[in-house]
Amino acid sequence: MTKTTTFIGQISTKDKEAWLNKINPLLKDISIVPYEDLTDEQKLDIEVAIVANPDPRELLELKGLLWVQSLWAGVERLLTDLPQAEFGIVRMKDPKLSSTMAEAVLAWTLYLHRDMPKYLMQQKNKIWQQNELMELKDRNVGLLGLGNLGRASVEKLILNGFNVYGWSRNETNIQGVKCFFGASGLQEMLKHTDILICLLPLTDETDSLLNYENLGLLPRGASLINFSRGQIIDDNALLHHLESKHLKHAVLDVFNTEPLPKNSKLWDSPNITILPHVSASTNIRTASKIVVNHLLKYFETGRIPETVVRSRGY
Ligand code: NAP
Repeated sequence: MTKTTTFIGQISTKDKEAWLNKINPLLKDISIVPYEDLTDEQKLDIEVAIVANPDPRELLELKGLLWVQSLWAGVERLLTDLPQAEFGIVRMKDPKLSSTMAEAVLAWTLYLHRDMPKYLMQQKNKIWQQNELMELKDRNVGLLGLGNLGRASVEKLILNGFNVYGWSRNETNIQGVKCFFGASGLQEMLKHTDILICLLPLTDETDSLLNYENLGLLPRGASLINFSRGQIIDDNALLHHLESKHLKHAVLDVFNTEPLPKNSKLWDSPNITILPHVSASTNIRTASKIVVNHLLKYFETGRIPETVVRSRGY
């Protein structure tokens, strides 16, 4: 087996260098040849590629490709760009990423729980008014997605005293969490959720899941946080429910188009907090070690790490 891999990514040269500087020294006798430096012969020999927002045409040039290691957790673009491709996709699953996301979830849940958007507005209008504070145990926080990121977030929310609900595709049990699954489970959970947090992957099933009807099931005055993918929320439905005051506030970190276009109506809503996709970035230090472990094990044993299930989209 040739111990050569490649790096394919439409990312800045600075970021590419940062990744290669961390990964290369740990790789022993495996060499990473950047895609642009591969000879035609080398392209045919490549079995594994490290990818970060790759150009799909470049991946198709690697006729012997067996799997790719994504540096990101979300891989929906790889799946939609190359629906017929047969190579395995290994997502970034890093406990450090999960704990960073859990920290973001806690921070912005507290932001909503403590009515910070309202106090910011009051300050702007020089209003001195103390609003009622709900006890943590009475605040129902509903998590959509109980995977790597969802579970770490759930733990942090429980530890901080929130009453936590969770929704996943398959039935599951997590101590201290009221778990729901499937379409009827979603409806049931939404009806009782004060703060809804989206940590679902973008798939055919989750695309526009938070539409007019589903958002309408949330109790009046509920808020939401989207930290996974913009397409999961129907923006017009969200704006409608915010304008009618059915929903109180939305914290959005992810959008259909990023950067969010200047002419997007989302910027203008006083009831939306916009973040520039910062809830949980891949940590180069810890993620590099995961990439290296996967590559070393593969070149030693021929075993490919766990891959995304293409048919379910995550
Ligand atoms: P994961 O481990 O694959 O977990 C996905 C969870 O979603 C699982 O609990 C799964 O249910 C559930 N799910 C998937 N499809 C569903 C459906 N149709 N109905 C109900 N539940 C469904 O993923 P993860 O590592 O937690 O990451 C989640 C997403 O976060 C990524 O795909 C990525 O888009 C996003 N992300 C965002 C950032 C950021 O900075 N904003 C950073 C990293 C990741 P089961 O448990 O039943 O399989």
